[in-house]
Amino acid sequence: MRIVVLAGGIGGARFLRGLRAAAPEADITVIGNTGDDIHLFGLKVCPDLDTVMYTLGGGINEEQGWGRADETFHIKEELAAYGVEPTWFGLGDRDFATHVIRTQMLGAGYPLSAVTEALCARWKPGVRLLPMTDDRVETHVAIQAEEGTRKVVHFQEYWVKLRAAMAAEAVVPVGADQSKPAPGVLEAISTADVILFPPSNPVVSIGAILAVPGIREAIAEAGVPVVGLSPIVGGAPVRGMADKVLAAVGVEATAAAVAAHYGSGLLDGWLVHTSDADAVADVEAAGIRCRAVPLLMADLDATAQMAREALTLAEEARA
Ligand code: GDP
Ligand code: CA
Repeated sequence: MRIVVLAGGIGGARFLRGLRAAAPEADITVIGNTGDDIHLFGLKVCPDLDTVMYTLGGGINEEQGWGRADETFHIKEELAAYGVEPTWFGLGDRDFATHVIRTQMLGAGYPLSAVTEALCARWKPGVRLLPMTDDRVETHVAIQAEEGTRKVVHFQEYWVKLRAAMAAEAVVPVGADQSKPAPGVLEAISTADVILFPPSNPVVSIGAILAVPGIREAIAEAGVPVVGLSPIVGGAPVRGMADKVLAAVGVEATAAAVAAHYGSGLLDGWLVHTSDADAVADVEAAGIRCRAVPLLMADLDATAQMAREALTLAEEARA
């Protein structure tokens, strides 16, 4: 079975670990979000691709959910001692090596997809990891500045430095409209048996991937079941601040509203958490098959069970 998964960082990566356990024979292609990418200290950093690579490759900091395990921060301390900005982005020493190699290869002319493949040769994530595009896309967020004027900041500044403390008025994947899907992306979608949306951020993770021209259309036209899992449980994100960016696109932070945001033109099935069983009727009324099952990725077994439920719902949708 060929499975395509659109993934952000932590939510996508943890789900993928469960999917790999639930479907060990499957050929899994991950289309990773690169809208969170940022240049820091002259280096190209791809937080979501790295979270997937480290999580599936066994190098992730488990408690944090991002960054390397067993990490030290000497380079960060030295940069701070020179007074170099920014100081708010946590790059560890081990992680730095990944960004050095990536930047070096990009400088030598390799596209990001080839660089990602080279990095994965070390990590052996057990999936084929493709960036959504080889072109530069960076998500920016419009916020109110103090004097009542609008200010636009990089998504990482909004998320990491400002901790999404103020409302996001707009979220724009800058460059997406000019971008092309990376090599292999459209082929993977058109030859997939099932397409899954893990419980990743619907706006800045999956939304950014769908903003690359051609990807949304290819999924809608693939003619295979598309099933998603809600990142929203009980009216709030399980982790993080996805409600802030959902508000920016006018979507309520509920499992049903996120399903309606994707829409029946894209989604055939949607899983909500058991505590959101009330939402099932609303989602089905919108033309999307829906089931309420446990959706908390507490451990590998629970996550693998979520993946099985998603594959089961996909088979029902196919029938
Ligand atoms: P990021 O790029 O690191 O922010 O990660 P993603 O975009 O892949 O996923 C973030 C989303 O994962 C957040 O909106 C969370 O609500 C969701 N999430 C994290 N843990 C869980 C979980 O155990 N269950 C569910 N249903 N969602 C989760
Ligand atoms: Ca991310």
